[in-house]
Amino acid sequence: MPVHNSVLEEVQYQVERYLANHRDALACSCRQCRDDVVALAASQLPSRYTASSTGRALIGVELQSKQVQLDIFQAILAAIEKVNQSPRHDPKRIVQV
Ligand SMILES: [Zn+2]
Repeated sequence: MPVHNSVLEEVQYQVERYLANHRDALACSCRQCRDDVVALAASQLPSRYTASSTGRALIGVELQSKQVQLDIFQAILAAIEKVNQSPRHDPKRIVQV
């Protein structure tokens, strides 16, 4: 079984969900900017790696706790703000939205 970073998976899921409900939150919605939000948010949170399905289930329960969800949400909001202030993408390379 490959090693999973459960926090990263949760952040990816939450970012997609948040941006789907708040289309204006991110000034630019290209793949690069969304990936930057995920990377920035995940790097502010403690990583939780697991290589077993039991470990994944345990961390999954932990990730559902209110405090952890709040930490993740705040990290995502901070990351969106950062990316909005200084998007790293190259505007000339954007061809698809
Ligand atoms: Zn962008």
